[in-house]
Amino acid sequence: MGKRGLLLVVSAPSGAGKTTLCRLLLERFPFRFSVSHTTRPPRPGEVHGRDYYFVSREEFREMIREGAFLEWAEVHGNLYGTSFSEVERALSGEEDLLLDIDVQGASQVRGRLGARAVFVFILPPSLEELERRLRRRGTEDEETLRRRLARAREEIRFAPWFDYVVINDEVERAFEDLAAIIRAERCRPARALS
Ligand code: 5GP
Repeated sequence: MGKRGLLLVVSAPSGAGKTTLCRLLLERFPFRFSVSHTTRPPRPGEVHGRDYYFVSREEFREMIREGAFLEWAEVHGNLYGTSFSEVERALSGEEDLLLDIDVQGASQVRGRLGARAVFVFILPPSLEELERRLRRRGTEDEETLRRRLARAREEIRFAPWFDYVVINDEVERAFEDLAAIIRAERCRPARALS
């Protein structure tokens, strides 16, 4: 790793396969996962401090007031945010960091860090395929599914704004794109020569 760490921001509409791609990335590259704060209750198997810091709405609001967040947003009725303390070591070049955040958060990070961060958007091959994947997952009722699809349509409109777009037609192939992006970004003079 060069002296400047890689701060990789990955966003996607739900059902695009972002979670799987991020998991592969963490297995195969020495990135640390940026642990967000959220007011969403933990899902079975999720661990406080590893997957998220699970906090109350009051605690989250207090952190906003203190200016503790690099970015925060409301997603599906819950609050999510990346604290400055999570990104500190990446900004000082001590580690490579993966941020799995939504498009609203990504645009705030861009506003604050600009070219210091790299922005990748994961896309499903088509909206039809996205719907199939969400239905196959079968975790949502019809109403929630329709809301997620509508939101996905909105989010996909932000794709041109990212540095890179990866189409997740097949996981290993999409992962190769992601790996190529990381390798190319590490070759930028600002990282390679510092
Ligand atoms: P989930 O509740 O399924 O873990 O995450 C829902 C959405 O919230 C995902 O799109 C995820 O990327 C996003 N998210 C997770 N952490 C953060 C965060 O710290 N900030 C923002 N803006 N979005 C986040």
